[in-house]
Amino acid sequence: MTTRRDALKTIALTTGAITIGSHLLHAQAPATEVPAVFKLPPLGYDYDALEPFIDAETMKIHHDKHHAAYVSKLNQAIAGAPGFESKPIEEILAKLDTVPEAARKDIRNQGGGHANHSLFWQTLKKNENGKPAGELAKAIDNSFGGFAKFQDDFGTAATKVFGSGWAWLVWKSGKLSIESSANQDSPYSTGGVPLLGIDVWEHAYYLKYQNRRAEYIKAFQNVVNWDFVSERFAKAAKG
Ligand code: MN
Repeated sequence: MTTRRDALKTIALTTGAITIGSHLLHAQAPATEVPAVFKLPPLGYDYDALEPFIDAETMKIHHDKHHAAYVSKLNQAIAGAPGFESKPIEEILAKLDTVPEAARKDIRNQGGGHANHSLFWQTLKKNENGKPAGELAKAIDNSFGGFAKFQDDFGTAATKVFGSGWAWLVWKSGKLSIESSANQDSPYSTGGVPLLGIDVWEHAYYLKYQNRRAEYIKAFQNVVNWDFVSERFAKAAKG
């Protein structure tokens, strides 16, 4: 026989259980559900395609975890900048001052991470002794005094990045230049078009090279897809 007291107890327990249950469900969901405006682009080749210069494990973690995290956090950030979700990330980075201030830092960091890596994957291809072609080859000769000199200057810029960042070959104000950027800052934010970038965050090389950044920078010369970079230059130079 159920007394009124027992019945109340049952109700209280049941209600408690429901409350806890829904609380747990809520806790398991992401902090904020936001639309997947930006998406992780596919790598476009196998993880081991750049071996032995860049190892498969590094490529897998770099693309599937690091780049994926930039995309996910960019989607969180863009939710705080209504109207910007329809713009290409390159365009947003080129006009960061128009982004609402509360979302600007996250969009600069996460959006830069997304844009930088999206370009990075496309510029990589095992291409031992590969060289720039066509107009880019000429422009590199004119701007840097030859391809070997360019390789030296680019490598030096990458070596000199203090902490995490990138070194870049950039098309800017009608000419080629070598630049570096801190963190995930993009050349688009300083008026340039990045043609080639080397990621010198430790996540880009630490598994294979540990603290030997210079070795990774040297190895990187063997995995530049110069055909892609040459085409990208032709488009950028055309305007
Ligand atoms: Mn990276």
